[in-house]
Amino acid sequence: MPAFVARARCRPLWPMVATIAFAATLPAPGLAARLDTKVVPTFQSVSLKLDAETEDYTGSTRIELRVREATPSIRFHAEEMPIQRIALTGAKGPIAVQHEIMDGAQVEVRAAQALAPGDYTLDIDFANGFGTQATGLYRMQQDGRGYLFTQFEADDAREAFPCWDEPGFKLEWQMVIEVPEKHTAVTNTPVESESVSDGWRKLVFKRTKPLPSYLLAIAAGTLERVPITGMSIPGNVVTIHGQGHLAQLAVETTPPILKALENYFGEPYPFEKLDLIAIPEYWPGAMENPGAVTYAARILLVDSQAASVSQQRTLARVTAHELSHMWFGDVVTMQWWDDLWLNESFADWLGDKIAHQVSPQFNIEVTELQASLQVMNVDARPSAQAIRQPVESTDNLMQNIGTQYNKGKAVLGMFEQWIGPEKFRTGVLQYLAAHRWGNATAADLWQALSVASGNNLSAALASFIEQPGLPLIRIEAEGGNRIRIRQQRFSNWGVEQGAQTWKVPVQLRYSDGNAVQAKTVLLDQESQSISLDIGGAPAWVLPNADQRGYYCWEVPQDMLRALATNAATILNERERVGFIGNLSALLDAGALNGGDYLFALGKFADDPQPQVISSVLSALGKVELAFVQPENEIAFAAYVRATLGPALERFGAEPRSGEDEQIRLFRPQLLEWLGDTGKDVAILEMAENLARRYVQDPHSIDAQLSGVALQLSAIRGDRALFDDYRQRFESAQVPADRNRYLGALANFRDPEIIEEALRYTLTGPLRSNELLTIPGGLVGYPPQRDRVFRWLTENYDAIGKRLPPEFMGFMPFMAGGCSAERLAKAQEFFGQPQHQAPGTTVQLAKVGDQVHDCVGLHEREGAAVAAFLDRSVGTR
Ligand SMILES: [Zn+2]
Repeated sequence: MPAFVARARCRPLWPMVATIAFAATLPAPGLAARLDTKVVPTFQSVSLKLDAETEDYTGSTRIELRVREATPSIRFHAEEMPIQRIALTGAKGPIAVQHEIMDGAQVEVRAAQALAPGDYTLDIDFANGFGTQATGLYRMQQDGRGYLFTQFEADDAREAFPCWDEPGFKLEWQMVIEVPEKHTAVTNTPVESESVSDGWRKLVFKRTKPLPSYLLAIAAGTLERVPITGMSIPGNVVTIHGQGHLAQLAVETTPPILKALENYFGEPYPFEKLDLIAIPEYWPGAMENPGAVTYAARILLVDSQAASVSQQRTLARVTAHELSHMWFGDVVTMQWWDDLWLNESFADWLGDKIAHQVSPQFNIEVTELQASLQVMNVDARPSAQAIRQPVESTDNLMQNIGTQYNKGKAVLGMFEQWIGPEKFRTGVLQYLAAHRWGNATAADLWQALSVASGNNLSAALASFIEQPGLPLIRIEAEGGNRIRIRQQRFSNWGVEQGAQTWKVPVQLRYSDGNAVQAKTVLLDQESQSISLDIGGAPAWVLPNADQRGYYCWEVPQDMLRALATNAATILNERERVGFIGNLSALLDAGALNGGDYLFALGKFADDPQPQVISSVLSALGKVELAFVQPENEIAFAAYVRATLGPALERFGAEPRSGEDEQIRLFRPQLLEWLGDTGKDVAILEMAENLARRYVQDPHSIDAQLSGVALQLSAIRGDRALFDDYRQRFESAQVPADRNRYLGALANFRDPEIIEEALRYTLTGPLRSNELLTIPGGLVGYPPQRDRVFRWLTENYDAIGKRLPPEFMGFMPFMAGGCSAERLAKAQEFFGQPQHQAPGTTVQLAKVGDQVHDCVGLHEREGAAVAAFLDRSVGTR
């Protein structure tokens, strides 16, 4: 699954909430121990009778088992599912058994005597209700029709039918699905046979390749299919009734991505067909079920006459991510959830590489850099956890997921760069060949990469994967062409953390003022002295060339100035983005004064590359969070307008013909900053005009501006506008329109409308996966954080009834920001046992660290920042 942040603007809190809403692996609380492997399933057929117009279903399953060691009992998973019959058959015929429901959604079947090693068959009949919160096998309705979909990762296949619901059990499956004659169904494989009798359509699907239960998928109802041509196998975009006309962009986007992946992996797509299924009510962005990839409809279905560049880019990224999983995750599966991070990091890393190759105009190599820079903030704090963690139960599987995806991706990229892309690819292919259709661990991949590169990489990789935190690399001049490179754990100012070292491939670029040289040094001790290939002392050293390394850095002040002053000529685009991220780290570490920080940011604000300015905006978000109060809001608004003025002039507020895609991608973010934080009346008026036109006809304005126009139009909007947007949200037929109107409902500033928006969150016809959109949007505006937190505490139980339980553990994020008082209230609230959904304590610790850092930064640098803002406003 991908964890994507979809909103243009990166205020410090919202990305967390967005990540939650997009990265849904949905572990159930209270899991018992893992199943043992004395008995393993070798084949399972599942027969389900599914009518999407009802709330219940029945099913039966036959599981072929191999008993490998004599045992009197067999355990499998089945969650809250009445079991009507269990029959066990051995080589000599039926064996009498009894069954008992155990903890952790397990069922134990016991025979009177131990079962001897050999082959057995288990038949189970069951009945069940469909899920209602978009997890497991669930039902949703749209326009008076019912539909059934599934989302099984991590452990919700057991809610749909009895199974061995762990990734280490890979077996062939066969689905037999009966639906009412007017419905159809889609699963992972093509239909083998189809028949109709007594008003029921019976679809027998072909056997799957060996798969774990979490990768199975079912869709049923009045579905439409739009063929995708030009792939090595057949495939369709599958939609609910009446939405097939929105499939065209997906039909065009998918074949070149699949082709590029087939080239990377050196073989055709390894499954028989590829359907992409659009689901209106869906938690993750998408899910890599082989042959039946499921997507949030808002990502897969795009009105091709009004497709914004960001929608095209998101669809390409998500598709490349999911299709990378077909090999990495599906053909070879992690042995256990402790390597989920590798599954996801690899798909994100390769997905971005492939999407960049297929659609270079999106500049994904640079745009995605900001995500790994933001993860460094989280990873720097004491509450950071190593990305590879023992997983005893799946309760806390997603607690770390933002760090896992983005840190893991950055670390893979760093090592690819170090050993070289071709050797890296050779190692990946060897790993896939060695474990084809089976399971593997991270150590197996490190082993293959070590063989391919001729170096033992295991210890270096482990130093990043199995330790929390990140290195700070410091460069000291030692005279002449010698420098000393030191490492220590990066810590924010005033935070004590234990000593720690890494084995870091440090990629240096440096110059004596004339020639520019590069060198990679494996720093495997606390410090190391090296000589540079130049005649005299370096004029500058960039310690993270091409921003490929997962570390922060510090150089002597004169070198920092030389780098900042000449950034446009000596640093490439990735390096300038990295430089800005590193400035923020230096501010956090207390190595840079707040005024100097704002001054340095200003130096990058008229950069010719939009992504560099986008990084400046992320940095300004940090300033806004820590330093902006009602008393200096006006001064900060003036600073924002002045700082972004050159960018507005360079790129324009409205699209220009023939302009670069990068500019089109960036413009909404620029306008949002100018209109919202910058309080620029001309921009607000322009947005209000655009919004009026969009409401009349979505095709009448530049698609890329639709979202930001609605957002900004809400700022000065009245109750009538709120009601209009609400009605349009409820009746929207295009998923992106629905999403945009809902997002805009969170951006009104009138206190009475905010109350109404919060009330509507729990009383309106919102889908479960939409419940966090309004509160998540409201906390993007700092003055509303207290109100949203109070709403959370007053409605905790009601929210808990609507959200899958695993999401409740993320709720402490609503207390984030820069207020020690709110943090204290959160600690009290979440200290009570009835408010401790699984994962709450871990999240509360993270929020506590974030708030302490922010409050500390405010106390330390507030005066310097205020003085800078005064001076900067005074001089205009
Ligand atoms: Zn994924």
